[in-house]
Amino acid sequence: MSESARLYRGSLAPEEAVARLNAAARQVNATETVDLAAATGRYLYADLVAGHDLPATNNAAVDGYAVDAAFLAANPGHAFPVIGRAAAGHPFAGTAASGEAVRTFTGAVMPQGTDAVAMHEFCELEADGTHVTIGSKLTPGANNRPAGENLRKGETIIPAGTRLDAADLGIAAASGMATLEVRRQLKVGLVSMGDELVAPGDEPAHGQLHDSNRPMLADMLRGDGHEVEDFGIIADDEAALSSCFQTALSRCDAVLSSGGASDGDEDHTQAAMRNTNIKPAFWRLSIKPGRPMSAGLMDGKPVMCLPGNPVAAFVCYRLAAAPVLRHMAGGVARPVLKLRVRCGFAHRKSAGRAEYLRVRIIAGADGEPEMVLHGRKGAGVLSSLTGADGLIEIPVYNEGVEAGDYLSFIPFRETGL
Ligand code: AMP
Ligand code: MG
Repeated sequence: MSESARLYRGSLAPEEAVARLNAAARQVNATETVDLAAATGRYLYADLVAGHDLPATNNAAVDGYAVDAAFLAANPGHAFPVIGRAAAGHPFAGTAASGEAVRTFTGAVMPQGTDAVAMHEFCELEADGTHVTIGSKLTPGANNRPAGENLRKGETIIPAGTRLDAADLGIAAASGMATLEVRRQLKVGLVSMGDELVAPGDEPAHGQLHDSNRPMLADMLRGDGHEVEDFGIIADDEAALSSCFQTALSRCDAVLSSGGASDGDEDHTQAAMRNTNIKPAFWRLSIKPGRPMSAGLMDGKPVMCLPGNPVAAFVCYRLAAAPVLRHMAGGVARPVLKLRVRCGFAHRKSAGRAEYLRVRIIAGADGEPEMVLHGRKGAGVLSSLTGADGLIEIPVYNEGVEAGDYLSFIPFRETGL
């Protein structure tokens, strides 16, 4: 066994860590009914089923003249008397006979007796506006949007466990819903640990630094739809941390800490978990950055201890903590999106850990997308995250990458559009 394989033996891949915690973590079961305007980012409790067809009737897809297509086919050049008007929200009340036309606008219910709309560009209206001739051929159903094209009554339009977004709200409104039943938000206790940390805004003394993990992790938690209870900064002190874990567990569904996750003299998360009767689930992930992550559970509530190095905390949150919280919040599992993209740089690593480096996507010399390293390497180099498009994943057994290799790119920028 190689040196690195020996060193990383017993550490878990993030997916295994997630599976282990998900098997024991308790899901939120309570629900609440919220207005559509407040439903963004919430997790839908039950399948949303269409209550009616949408559109409810066949309707016009263009502006023009609605006629009977078979009549037109048999009588090309016929001058159709224009017997009425149909617009969106203003259906034509009568029935057109074969050989009659109705002036029709996009979105109007198809007038009875007609089955196709001739686009007005292909129509010639007589000077007095009473008759129209149609210069195009029409098949039955031409330029119609059929009833139920968008939604069919009874079909599932948003599956349970969906994290609701703008398109979901649109379709919920289209199907007649003004409110939705969603899961209660998951409440996550967040704490930073370290004698060296001061809150943003406070003046650091010699050897101190600002706590950057808490604002970053709080934002990622809220961005994932969870409520955050902030437990501030705890000193590197076993008793203080044990009591913080205890309080956080009594008030929250899950606890997320950063710092002190390793096994050094100044790392107290493991001891605090033992003191608090938190059952260990794992310690160490086979990833870089992020190896020292540990986690345990009490009464179905996970305590996830991320390493203090900010990039490690970010990567561990995304790969190992976020999927557990999503599961607990009632969200359907969403596999990490990994795209095969050409790598534009060389990098050496040891086997035994998957490595995640921050990258940007640029157009390579031949125009093909290519990953380039972003910022300086290092688990603590937070500036490598700002402005990055995502992570490159260098698999666990690789000893490096060469320019030209195709590897997984994991985007983390919110907007691709
Ligand atoms: P630790 O995991 O406690 O050994 O910390 C590893 C490194 O991350 C140390 O250099 C810490 O100072 C730094 N660190 C720990 N927590 C934070 C935090 N909340 N914000 C910024 N840096 C941190
Ligand atoms: Mg520390």
